[in-house]
Amino acid sequence: MNNKILLVEDNKALSKLISKKITENIDFEVDIAHTLKEAQTFIGSKNSYFIALLDLNLPDAPNGEVVDYMISKKVPSIVLTANVDQKTRDEILKKDVIDYVFKGNMDDVNYIFHLIERLSKNRDYKVLVVDDSIVMRNEMKRLLNLQMYKVFSAAHGEEALVYMKDNPDIKLVLTDYNMPVIDGFELTKTLREEYSKMQLSIIGITANSDQMVSSKFLKIGANDFINKPFTKEELVCRVNNAIESMEYIETISDMANTDFLTGARNRRSFFKEVEAYMDYARANNEEFAVAMIDIDHFKKINDAYGHDMGDIAIKELVRLITESIKGADIVARFGGEEFCVLLKNIDKSSAIELFVRLRIRVAQNIINIKSNKIQYTVSIGITFNCDEDIEEMINQADMALYNAKNSGRNRVEIADAE
Ligand code: GH3
Ligand code: MG
Ligand code: MG
Repeated sequence: MNNKILLVEDNKALSKLISKKITENIDFEVDIAHTLKEAQTFIGSKNSYFIALLDLNLPDAPNGEVVDYMISKKVPSIVLTANVDQKTRDEILKKDVIDYVFKGNMDDVNYIFHLIERLSKNRDYKVLVVDDSIVMRNEMKRLLNLQMYKVFSAAHGEEALVYMKDNPDIKLVLTDYNMPVIDGFELTKTLREEYSKMQLSIIGITANSDQMVSSKFLKIGANDFINKPFTKEELVCRVNNAIESMEYIETISDMANTDFLTGARNRRSFFKEVEAYMDYARANNEEFAVAMIDIDHFKKINDAYGHDMGDIAIKELVRLITESIKGADIVARFGGEEFCVLLKNIDKSSAIELFVRLRIRVAQNIINIKSNKIQYTVSIGITFNCDEDIEEMINQADMALYNAKNSGRNRVEIADAE
């Protein structure tokens, strides 16, 4: 991915500040030019830029000439400006620029930074524009392409559904109401049967005169609506807002499913995931294994090295487990230093071998931290009785773990076959 930015700004303090904020916080390189001439040199030396940040007033280009130059070189541009009156704003927005932003104080620098971060993330999102008017369609496509989205466009609902089938990872649909064959309502209803608001955002587009249409759009499942005619800024803000809301929901949902200390799943998310998998495994006659893993004499580690070191020891176990299993397998933290692991699609002997190796690896692992050398062992109980429900499988693995503890710890025990 192209992670280079060209910053053209004659104020040296400001250009340094912006560049610092970007390079310190995200994985971007920044080239700084103080004049149009320097900017042209950067472009001339075959540099390719993700975007350019452009000062309208440069010593050798006092009237925004750098913007026209960058557009002619097809470099996506953001205009930096000290003050914007209505006339300047209209003139800037007429050009094919991504946005204009104020510059001056730290808040402005933060805004510029967030805009770049937004644009950078947008590269990963697919957006579908649905409108029977080719003029509207192309205009929306152009505006969203400028925001770095991957944009598809469809002339009516039917075509839109085909795109959705081929690209189920489309994250946002912007749909007109009045269209032949399948209109915007029908399309929204059909999409909502398959995609939740968490998976797909839908924005309805309606003619200004028709308030009924906007409220109906929302009632049948659209996330938002835009009235025609709309400004470029309104469209962009609403689309970015919709995408941001989905990102927030995803973050919250990840947090609700994850154990904070280790990043493993928590108990609740384990059961949700495992139940879905077990239906699949039974339908496909797939064998799997469930194991409980518990650190031996963990209390002693806490007592000897303190709770913080204990936390590190727990995280280290998750690292070793994760490195031993496949990406699709499931690990969850069930208690303080107790984990449940489900290995998918595996026969008994391979599963036993994997856990025995893990046990040995843990026993040999030394955590060197703050002049401490922490070493511990684990006990593991496994069950293969896949006809049982998950609660019963966990009970059996727990019993096997109990046997491992009673037989001296640092052991792998297997539950009796039923
Ligand atoms: P055994 O070999 O029988 O498993 O002995 P143990 O000492 O590991 O047994 P037990 O399960 O009784 O003790 C677990 C200890 O883990 C008790 C608790 O203070 C500690 N613990 C629980 N959660 C955390 C945590 O998040 N961080 C740390 N550092 N300690 C924790
Ligand atoms: Mg323990
Ligand atoms: Mg325990």
